[in-house]
Amino acid sequence: TAPVDTAGSASPEALLARIFGYNAFRGRQREIIETVVDGDNALVLMPTGGGKSLCYQIPALVRSGTGIVISPLIALMRDQVEALKANGVAAAVLNSSLDAQARRQVERDLRDGNLDLLYVAPEGLLREPVLAMLEGCRLALFAIDEAHCVSQWGHDFRPEYLQLGLLRERFPKVPRIALTATADERTRAEISRHLLADGGRTFIDSFDRANLRYRVGLKDNARAQLLRFIQNEHRGHSGIVYCFSRKRTEQIAAFLYQNGLTALPYHAGLSADERQAHQDRFIGEDGVIICATIAFGMGIDKPDVRFVAHLDLPRSIEAYYQETGRAGRDGLPADAWMVYSLADIVQIRQMQANSSAPEAQQRLERERLEALLAYCEHAGCRRPPLLSYFEEDHPGNCGRCDNCLNPPETWDATEAARKALSCVYRTGQRFGAGHVIDVLLGNASDRIASLGHDRLSTFGIGSDLDRKTWQSVLRQLLALGHLQPDPAGHGGLQLSERCRPLLRGEQQVQLRRDTVPVRRTRAAGSR
Ligand code: ADP
Ligand code: ZN
Repeated sequence: TAPVDTAGSASPEALLARIFGYNAFRGRQREIIETVVDGDNALVLMPTGGGKSLCYQIPALVRSGTGIVISPLIALMRDQVEALKANGVAAAVLNSSLDAQARRQVERDLRDGNLDLLYVAPEGLLREPVLAMLEGCRLALFAIDEAHCVSQWGHDFRPEYLQLGLLRERFPKVPRIALTATADERTRAEISRHLLADGGRTFIDSFDRANLRYRVGLKDNARAQLLRFIQNEHRGHSGIVYCFSRKRTEQIAAFLYQNGLTALPYHAGLSADERQAHQDRFIGEDGVIICATIAFGMGIDKPDVRFVAHLDLPRSIEAYYQETGRAGRDGLPADAWMVYSLADIVQIRQMQANSSAPEAQQRLERERLEALLAYCEHAGCRRPPLLSYFEEDHPGNCGRCDNCLNPPETWDATEAARKALSCVYRTGQRFGAGHVIDVLLGNASDRIASLGHDRLSTFGIGSDLDRKTWQSVLRQLLALGHLQPDPAGHGGLQLSERCRPLLRGEQQVQLRRDTVPVRRTRAAGSR
């Protein structure tokens, strides 16, 4: 293809209609495009599916020269380039998978000014011969996609992203646009500093995904709950089920498959061919469910994913937001569904306690988990805590989350919390939830007798509540940070610093009453 002829009447609107087939810009796309067309730098924060690509594709077409798109994802580049070519845009990829001849062709097209857009991975771009070649070309812009990869604190840190700072010195006249769907204050500052040298305008779109219905429930029998959810609400729909481990993605996929659903695993342990085959089926067929670790999803643009389910807790609100954000990109209603349990919290806290990461990193991870748990246990509308992560105020009462649709009951659990905390203390801060609850309930067993726990002042002080309620109390105390698992990793519970005001009677605590767990289905096996 020859480059798009933009002589004369190529306004952004005309290109939007002619090349992409849309009749109006969304959100702040128009402003962003104008900024870059004028040669200024821009930082674009927009949720997944918000329409970031057009923000650099159209300026690259309007400005003369080639737009260089830097992205860490080969799969994403290939898909985008195919889509662009199909629409008559002269786009190409420059990466290590090209053979010598194909590479020479791309380089020739670039030098001859025959490319509108060139996609390249950061490590490919940063090679000296490539930089030198680009210096001899006319460039429209640099678009740095997934710009949060520059953040050393993030999960996707890529060292090459830091080096992209050199674009400023080597190509001072070429505007840079950095784009990301991750936007906490710190990451934003890092992107600005490293990639834009603090220059340029920042554009923040609303991060509210209005069509997503957020739901967080308690795990009772995770598989059965998942199956029921899919069978009742998403028969024949495409969806993604996120699991913690590779093994679990396989087990869950097999379980769903046995129950008549088209489910496939996806994780880094599969061969590249298998992963590609599963991804192609997910994108090409209707009603395919992918059971994946976090390896799946970045850069996959499937508009009609109707649900994203979490069978295990994500790492942070940010990860949860990104992963659930893969549902409903077409703007139609979609579900973000999650179940979790006390055991999940203990497991993650323990892994964090055993981490060998630097202390600052560990603290950040603890804070991230706490924010996520607070979100899970939140009794009000889900949107304010979710969006506050992006420094966005949401008025609440969205009417489309579980808590808005079925407001949970809360109760004054101050007394119960004090009993539970002192029981943890009296039993020596070594025992798990099951044992602590036995002591609270006054269940005399040989084990309790041999430990002398039937003689403790807390033995039987909790007999006014039942076992399920105590589980709920302990889980929420753990989620709120009043309790913590013992660092040795034996599953024991300990008091944390934060519970002191509660123990001293200086603080009240409201907990949510757990709703009755989902009834088991006949078809489902046990966990
Ligand atoms: P992001 O990179 O922000 O996740 P994309 O650029 O892939 O999002 O866009 C998401 C979807 O929205 C794509 O299918 C894209 O074609 C569509 N889209 C983008 N801008 C518009 C628009 N102005 N009007 C209609 N659809 C749009
Ligand atoms: Zn709500």
